[in-house]
Amino acid sequence: MDKRVIALVDCNNFFVACERLRKPELRDVPVCVLSNNDGCVVSRSNEAKRMGVEMGAPYFICKNQFKKVKFLSGDLTYYCEISKRVMDKLYDFTPDVEIYSIDEAFLDLTGLRKTFNCPYEEICERIVQQIKDEVGIDVSVGLSYSKVLAKLANDKAKKLQKIKIDKKTYKIGYRNIQKELKETLISDVWGVGKNTTALLKKHLIQTCFDFVSQDDVWIKKNLGKIGIELKQELLGNSIHKVESVSDAPKSISRSESFKEFQTDKNYIFNELTRHIHKVCKKLRDENLLASCVGVMLRTKDFQVFDCKINLLNPTNTEFELVSKAKEIFEKMFVQGVVYRSVGFFATKFTSQEFQQISLFQGEDIIKKQELSKSWDKLEEKFGKGILRLGK
Ligand SMILES: [Mg+2]
Repeated sequence: MDKRVIALVDCNNFFVACERLRKPELRDVPVCVLSNNDGCVVSRSNEAKRMGVEMGAPYFICKNQFKKVKFLSGDLTYYCEISKRVMDKLYDFTPDVEIYSIDEAFLDLTGLRKTFNCPYEEICERIVQQIKDEVGIDVSVGLSYSKVLAKLANDKAKKLQKIKIDKKTYKIGYRNIQKELKETLISDVWGVGKNTTALLKKHLIQTCFDFVSQDDVWIKKNLGKIGIELKQELLGNSIHKVESVSDAPKSISRSESFKEFQTDKNYIFNELTRHIHKVCKKLRDENLLASCVGVMLRTKDFQVFDCKINLLNPTNTEFELVSKAKEIFEKMFVQGVVYRSVGFFATKFTSQEFQQISLFQGEDIIKKQELSKSWDKLEEKFGKGILRLGK
């Protein structure tokens, strides 16, 4: 079994905290940040939580219901900037950082007790302090032996803060693991969905402790491999590794020379869409979203032109990138010039798990992402080239 020490660092009420950073007058006021087009509440200050504003509540309802709450439009670009500052601090402690969402990161701290010459909890407290002092953001840290337990520990820290116990770091260690498993509902565990909860409930399994008490054969039969992995994670055996971003590619590009030199605009654009699909597929395989994309064109005599644009919302779907690429392509293409190849590239990646971003993007983009995933599945089944995007 692999014994690890894993921490989950999570910013408290992140978007609200960012707003308070640049507008200190919001400090003691109940504040909420709204999603794209002021649709719904995506971040709440503690005051707003106490007043009863729900996460995800539609703005047009709560603006009448909670007249004392200040509702702000979200500013994702600014939040990403602050997020980067927070994440950069984490690398002062270890290179093994997995940025999991805009305000959360897993750290593998295994062995660092010796490096820092102090207990793991103290390392976590230093992380909290350093981010507070140098960035001005409050974070909570969950410390344990696996990602699932670190997440539970983090939730616990937040719960304690809610009842005004000032505990920034919470540890689930061998001394309290059994107690925690008994006190935690399996439905509260990261990644356990409604269907699983319902199935377990039918077998009278309610708490994490009930769950880990089941034998492997039963778990495998009912939940498959995922169930076994969950049990191991809950018992403190790390299955899901902290995957640091340094393993991720810096850019992804695809290009190919034409069979014959080309001047035909439609032909070249068609080739371009083919490359876009390949790049998007690769992004999805790597669980990445790109926030910068570009087109390259090479002429017969090897002159290279490229042009890129930054995207407001990172993405990995053809349905958006084809229209962006078309904009770029229209500007670059010169009638009469003879071309040798065309290519597409994507860079400035963020992890797909930036879930808050999806809240901002709204349903439209989530639908497009779903559509692109179905495309990948069709190709797996029927082979490449089964689908092409129309113009
Ligand atoms: Mg958070």
